[in-house]
Amino acid sequence: MTITTILFDMDSTLNSIDEIEFSQKYFKMLHERFFSKFELQYFYESLTEITKNVMSSRSPRELAVKTFMKAMSKRYKKPQKKLYEDFKDFYATDYNQLEEFVRPAEGAIEAVQTCFDKGYNVVIATTPVFTEAAIMKRLTWSGMGAFTFKLVTHAENMHFSKPLKEYYTEISKKIKKKPFECIMVGNEFLGDVYGPTIAGMKTFYVPIRSENEDLFISPELRRFSKIKPTYRGKLFDVTKIVKNDFQKLD
Ligand SMILES: [Mg+2]
Repeated sequence: MTITTILFDMDSTLNSIDEIEFSQKYFKMLHERFFSKFELQYFYESLTEITKNVMSSRSPRELAVKTFMKAMSKRYKKPQKKLYEDFKDFYATDYNQLEEFVRPAEGAIEAVQTCFDKGYNVVIATTPVFTEAAIMKRLTWSGMGAFTFKLVTHAENMHFSKPLKEYYTEISKKIKKKPFECIMVGNEFLGDVYGPTIAGMKTFYVPIRSENEDLFISPELRRFSKIKPTYRGKLFDVTKIVKNDFQKLD
């Protein structure tokens, strides 16, 4: 197996994040700052819906940030440019309050450092529905600020999003590597195992809780029962296999 490139998911893979508290505070702050004339619940639901649409959008010539701003502009009757500036300002200021919900996951820094030490290309393959500034902050809070990644995906450099296979194909084209040279490490079956497998990549599944290790525990995942990760385990196991250049488990 000739693996040259290792892709890591960020949230709940490289970091430990309280996703519920994080998003509740995120929505609340954003609402207070720019959208307070709308009901909080309406804002929450419409932003969630718009984000889901961005994730499933298949417009090869439209960056994710454009798809997002277009939909927000239509929904909230604000010019796209103004919205973009508001978000930019928000990520530079209020967003910093979310740092308390994010910390490096156990073994994450060691796993990533090992990949660099062994000479692999390392990519952060995080759902590209946020701007670069927001993702770089979360990456720094995850203890990854000192690394120089080959690519970090975000809404301003990607046209496709997880869980689409096109997202992974787009990454492999951007970094000029064939999908079979790449392995994706992540905690979510649909986004981090199913998508890359369909695109032709290897996968390392690192579910956060052991009860999630059974892929078929969740009924909605039964339809993917033919898809299996190449490897599964903890970040510690990723470090071990990278140290061995994937040989032992071939
Ligand atoms: Mg994740």
